[in-house]
Amino acid sequence: MRFLNIILTFLLCFYVYPALSSNNFNLIPIEVSKNVFIFLGDNNDVNENNGGAISNTGFIIGENAVLVIDAGPSYIYASNVIEIINSYSDLPIKYLVVTHHHADHSFGISKYLEINTEIIMAEAEVKRYIKYGNRSLRQLSNQIGKEWFLNTKINSFQYKEKEYPIILDLGARNIILELYEEGHSDGDLIVKDIKSNTLFVGDLVFNQRAPTTPHANIYNWKNYLDEIIKKDWDILIPGHGNIIKNKEDVLQTKKWITFIDKTAKEASANGISALEIFNKGLPNIIKGYKLAKETWYRDLPVLINKYEFD
Ligand SMILES: [Zn+2]
Repeated sequence: MRFLNIILTFLLCFYVYPALSSNNFNLIPIEVSKNVFIFLGDNNDVNENNGGAISNTGFIIGENAVLVIDAGPSYIYASNVIEIINSYSDLPIKYLVVTHHHADHSFGISKYLEINTEIIMAEAEVKRYIKYGNRSLRQLSNQIGKEWFLNTKINSFQYKEKEYPIILDLGARNIILELYEEGHSDGDLIVKDIKSNTLFVGDLVFNQRAPTTPHANIYNWKNYLDEIIKKDWDILIPGHGNIIKNKEDVLQTKKWITFIDKTAKEASANGISALEIFNKGLPNIIKGYKLAKETWYRDLPVLINKYEFD
């Protein structure tokens, strides 16, 4: 009888599992330094299996408070992250730094508002989040299923204007926030934990993955990458892809944006269409990047178009 119970329980679990797992992000925190954790995003495009969780999230625990870096793609994702943070620390999650407005980094905001976390985000990016958020949410829901976005809302929130750089004290742990305007986005925030010498740079850096350029000013972005390389850090957390410890790895992002920018500028100057460039196949120089093809096809026409109207 007992054996039968075990079998019944097993069968029940088996049948219930798919329903539960549809919103399961399988989040596993990695401790990159003492009390500094990250969740690595899935290194694929947004799809039905990853629920849009493609970018990296971080959290830092001080003696009085916790700070989270990036909200992730949805309310459910943020809820899962908060649950895990609470299993590591009883301290309040005092700050959420949203590095920029793109959905994979910002759509979990509504969950943090419920727990009275202060949201820190560049003013220009708050405006974009409010202006384009609902449209982007509808598109994502249609693309990968609305069940991933249950309770996800685009909320306007109390925004305190800030003079960057700013220093936050988490209790025996100081964090510096810097603003990089009009680079990868209108306002990317980077987060430095002084104690562990860790730098979170959001999507200013992609590791082993094609960088996305829809809202970028590539000239500024390249300069910012040079600045990031020169900064003092031991561990760098990119917006996408694995942890970086070697400064040269930052150059992958610079190489891609330089190449796509040059190609787009030449095409627009010489009246060459994106289609003509696509017909020649994927250039060798970018073949090694994860999602090279998807990103090249999506971003090159946008850039050519942009330069045509410059
Ligand atoms: Zn991103």
